[in-house]
Amino acid sequence: MDFALSEQQRIFREQFRRFCEKEISPLVEDAEETETFPLELFPKMASLGYLCPRYPPTYGGPGIDKITEVVMREELSRVSQGIATSWSAHSHLGTYPIFKWGSEQQKQAFLIPAIRGEKIAAFALTEPDAGSDVRFIRTTARKSGGDYVINGRKIFITNGNICDFLTLVAYTNPSLGYQGISMFIVERGTPGFMVTRKLKKEGVRSSETAELLFEECRIPADYRIGDEGAFFRLMHTLNEGRVGVAGNCVGIAQAAYEAALRYAKSRIQFGHPIGRFQAIQFKLVEMATEIEAARLLVYRAAWMIDQGLEPVKEASMAKLYASEVAVRAAREAVQIHGGYGMMREFPVGRFLRDALVYTVGEGTSEIQKKIIAKEIGL
Ligand SMILES: Cc1cc2nc3c(=O)[nH]c(=O)nc-3n(C[C@H](O)[C@H](O)[C@H](O)COP(=O)(O)OP(=O)(O)OC[C@H]3O[C@@H](n4cnc5c(N)ncnc54)[C@H](O)[C@@H]3O)c2cc1C
Repeated sequence: MDFALSEQQRIFREQFRRFCEKEISPLVEDAEETETFPLELFPKMASLGYLCPRYPPTYGGPGIDKITEVVMREELSRVSQGIATSWSAHSHLGTYPIFKWGSEQQKQAFLIPAIRGEKIAAFALTEPDAGSDVRFIRTTARKSGGDYVINGRKIFITNGNICDFLTLVAYTNPSLGYQGISMFIVERGTPGFMVTRKLKKEGVRSSETAELLFEECRIPADYRIGDEGAFFRLMHTLNEGRVGVAGNCVGIAQAAYEAALRYAKSRIQFGHPIGRFQAIQFKLVEMATEIEAARLLVYRAAWMIDQGLEPVKEASMAKLYASEVAVRAAREAVQIHGGYGMMREFPVGRFLRDALVYTVGEGTSEIQKKIIAKEIGL
């Protein structure tokens, strides 16, 4: 058993932390205020291999392991979970199905430009009446000659209004139940594909989120990703994503903890830094301990992926625990900041708003518990 990152992973963390602090940090305030994703960032990240880091050199990526990716996600979210949200929709959910099951032609047309930062990806599963219950989606892809015709509505789609293409989940054969679910690529500009509204959000404001409508939207049959009947491929995509997102949650919690620790050392009340009071110390100690525990769960699930295993229970445990820890850490960071915690000039309020997104997004805490319950035989 080895609890240490390799030297290469440590160097990667340091380099990427410097990049986040130098290149991303200065963009955050404006992006949050204007609720606009800074589009110039993706090509810059791509030029350094930071945009889609998991994909192999054959397609132009650096091909890093899952542990290094979660380390990277921690660093990105430590600076901005909004930007990390858009990055994640692009670098994993929107492109992974194409990488894993797409044709060579699809990889050339969509995956490689996404890795280069020339095209932005999104992932469209959730619908107004189907969130946790994936099987209840109503979007259909009807075969028509050499094409598929898409009809349906999608909501809460990260990058939905700024993407060049999206990976769309739809029923090709509703009579088969969940086995009739398939995945497709839909390009922006395809007639019948409309962005109906950009959504205003409480958290992850620097990530853009949209509602989409597909009305008789005709796409070529070879834009289907893999065969029809993609439910288990979809679950695999979400499962691997969950481990990544758990890494993001550790990053939010870490940022909240660091801000609270700094503040506790500098804020003087009753003649002492507030960090001298046991009540504040205990909060910080609990934050530090829970973050460490969450990190271990996340690294273990990531390690399992690197071993070629499918960590279902471990992925859900990591996502459940890390997202709840992020909320608790951010909540305590606000409390430790007193009135200043409510002021926008301090980032802790943002950490809390952002953390709250992740006990819901990519599978709610209740759904993680439902998965874990099944995995432990209930
Ligand atoms: C900022 C943001 C970005 C997002 N980006 C994307 C994206 O890019 N692509 C995409 O497809 N989706 C995206 N989503 C959607 C997200 O994945 C869903 O919001 C999430 O899966 C929950 O679905 P829902 O909102 O419909 O809630 P519901 O499923 O309606 O759940 C409502 C409540 O009921 C609980 N609940 C539901 N079923 C059960 C049950 N069986 N047992 C116990 N409790 C239950 C839930 O836990 C929750 O507390 C995004 C969401 C947000 C907030």
